[in-house]
Amino acid sequence: MTPRLVDDAASRAARSAGIGQPSPPHRGRLAQLVDWVGRRPALRLVGLHPMIARPGYWAASGIALIWGSVLGGFHVRRRGGVVVCAGLPRWAFGRGGTTIGAVYLTHANTSPAVLAHESVHRAQWRRYGVAFIPLYLAAGRDARQNRFEIEAGLDLGGYR
Ligand SMILES: [Zn+2]
Repeated sequence: MTPRLVDDAASRAARSAGIGQPSPPHRGRLAQLVDWVGRRPALRLVGLHPMIARPGYWAASGIALIWGSVLGGFHVRRRGGVVVCAGLPRWAFGRGGTTIGAVYLTHANTSPAVLAHESVHRAQWRRYGVAFIPLYLAAGRDARQNRFEIEAGLDLGGYR
């Protein structure tokens, strides 16, 4: 990979996350911090560089796989583009299910539509690595306004 291609990959990732775009004044401190980092090309390049983002994605996937398989009684399957850990107690994930890295944690919310939605979240994790956590939180608590939920499909995710 040439440095030019690397720059392009990080820049594309930053643009698609809306990094570096000014946020409306009502947004929180986290959104402001994300914007501040986004306006610094060197920080952005390092944080979203595939060589940083990808190991973060792998580490998050590994931790989630341990969490999900132990708490879910090892009901682990590859389905719909994600690794599904089902059977978890409801306190062990958010909403109807949560994707961390490549791993989708849920009790029993595994319809094909939901898995299609979660596979987009997996791709987002792969693109941003652990930076996806602050980026997602900064994008807002309301799923219908959160750009990552919109990209994953609000209908598929059961948000409308
Ligand atoms: Zn979602």
